[in-house]
Amino acid sequence: MTAPARTVLRSIHTLIPMQGERLAPMPPIPDGAVVVEGSVIVWAGRDSDLPPALLEGAAVRNLSGHVVLPGLVNTHHHLYQTLTRCIAPDAGLFEWLRTLYPIWLRLTPDAAFDSAQLGLAELALSGCTTSSDHLYLFPNGVRLDDTIHAARELGVRFHATRGSMSLGESQGGLPPDRAVERENAILADSVRVIETFHDPARLAMTRVALAPCSPFSVTGDLMRESAVLARERGVMLHTHLAETADEDAFCLNQFGLRPLDYAESLGWVGPDVWFAHGVHFSSADAARLGACGCGVAHCPSSNMRLASGIAPTRTLLEAGVKVALGVDGSASNDSSHLLAEARQAMLSSRVRGVPGQAPHAHDLLTAHDALWLATRGGAAVLNRDDIGQIAPGYAADMIAVDLRDLGYSGARHDSMSALTLCAPPRVALNMVNGRVIMEAGQMTAIDLPALAERHDRHSARMLEG
Ligand code: ZN
Repeated sequence: MTAPARTVLRSIHTLIPMQGERLAPMPPIPDGAVVVEGSVIVWAGRDSDLPPALLEGAAVRNLSGHVVLPGLVNTHHHLYQTLTRCIAPDAGLFEWLRTLYPIWLRLTPDAAFDSAQLGLAELALSGCTTSSDHLYLFPNGVRLDDTIHAARELGVRFHATRGSMSLGESQGGLPPDRAVERENAILADSVRVIETFHDPARLAMTRVALAPCSPFSVTGDLMRESAVLARERGVMLHTHLAETADEDAFCLNQFGLRPLDYAESLGWVGPDVWFAHGVHFSSADAARLGACGCGVAHCPSSNMRLASGIAPTRTLLEAGVKVALGVDGSASNDSSHLLAEARQAMLSSRVRGVPGQAPHAHDLLTAHDALWLATRGGAAVLNRDDIGQIAPGYAADMIAVDLRDLGYSGARHDSMSALTLCAPPRVALNMVNGRVIMEAGQMTAIDLPALAERHDRHSARMLEG
């Protein structure tokens, strides 16, 4: 599928370019326009300033009544878990995992493909244009390839992370022994997927990262060797860290170290590393993470669902840590709505407020901060300088939200706040790399109802056992 040579989005009610710095951003542009050539943005500004020459031969989309902003970036997810939502609904992390591992072992390649596609479609409908995914179970012939093919067919920009588990129950780990792989097989397959799929080029649609699952499901040796391999091959590193108090206790017990100290002892710090959660990072941890350039994927819905706590996002940001959003799940959220996650990030940060004083008095997350995490934060955490803002030279990854939606009535005077304070809708338009992948509630490349039917059948089979 090829995009038209030039597309002009015009008469935009409000254009939120997300240019500038977080604390000194370019303000929203009323009556905006954006010009796309191929897969790249070439012009953005006021519609009245649009150079007439750019309209020649262009496909024009009228977006009056819409707010347009950069596509949202999801930095942590397990797409296969869309098959097993609402299991162990009141459990904490370890009990929830022990309940789900045996069910997840029934995953098949078809189910991995369809669940990736369904989760990515759900994300696209909520404004996501770039997603990472963390697949760490490979039963019955499942491969990372299944999820990458699913993303390519939909047209979503995709950072596939090759997860792994190698520390079974009999060795003191959490997962059952039959859920883990041999470490030399993990490393060999990591090399294979990097060589087959990883694209380091600017505007890449597919990248690969290495992602041993967590301190309680892999050995220190695998963490260390994965870091060496990732650096040899120039790919990023990702894992869960500091998610729960149980994990803190596990690390202290097993290694005599807190989670970040343990990660650091294995070579797992640096600008090429991002951690999911970071709920239990201390202020001292934040300073270290900021100094070494690590990123954090903040997953507030999952953390609240599992009663894990809330990450200190403001402390992390002020320490210079790259912070982004992750919907996580989908069995611990149990949704893949990224705009809703931005709202959760903002609201949950305010739970720490002091009664009687305004949120901003405590440096909690603002509406702008939440959208920043979802766009620029995501780009920074994934080490990308080509997404996250609407500016010439950046990838044409954009979404449009219809401000005429019922839930925005009375809020249209402040689009930025409307996007995070009002109930999050489905977006009206999703463009990735210059191509419209979703509009009018449908994915342009696939039959969504047919996918949902297949997905439901996989789910029923896995749950019935
Ligand atoms: Zn996770």
